[in-house]
Amino acid sequence: MLRRGLALGCEQCPAFEFYPLEELAQRYRCRRCGAVNDLVQARWKTGASEPEWYYELHPAVAELIDRVVLATAAPAWDTSTTTVARREPHGLRTAGKYTPDLYLLTAVGSSPALELLASAQG
Ligand SMILES: [Zn+2]
Repeated sequence: MLRRGLALGCEQCPAFEFYPLEELAQRYRCRRCGAVNDLVQARWKTGASEPEWYYELHPAVAELIDRVVLATAAPAWDTSTTTVARREPHGLRTAGKYTPDLYLLTAVGSSPALELLASAQG
C-alpha cells in the first residue's frame, strides 16, 4: 500500500510531485506543466547530495481518506510550514489528484485547537 519514490521539483514551475520508483529515470516530465527535467540535485526537495526516499499511500488507499490532521505540541504552527501545507493541496488539485481536507492541530497535551487549513473543495 505504500509506494517508495522521490519528491521532485520542476525547473519551469514551483510544483513538487511524488514520482514512484517505477517511474524514475534520468529525465522526467513534470506532471503539472509537462516540462522535461533532468534528475539533478536542484530538482530534489532537500539540499542533500543524494535524494531522500519519500513514501506515498497508494492512490486507491489515499482516496479512502477524507481528512488529514497535522498535529504539534507547540502553541502554533510556523508560517513556513503552513505556507507549504497550503500549497500541497492546491498542487494536487491542479494535477487532477484527489485532495483530502487538511487540518492543523496545535497545543496537543495542553489546550488543543483544531483549524481547517485547506478544504478538499478548494
Ligand atoms: Zn512544471
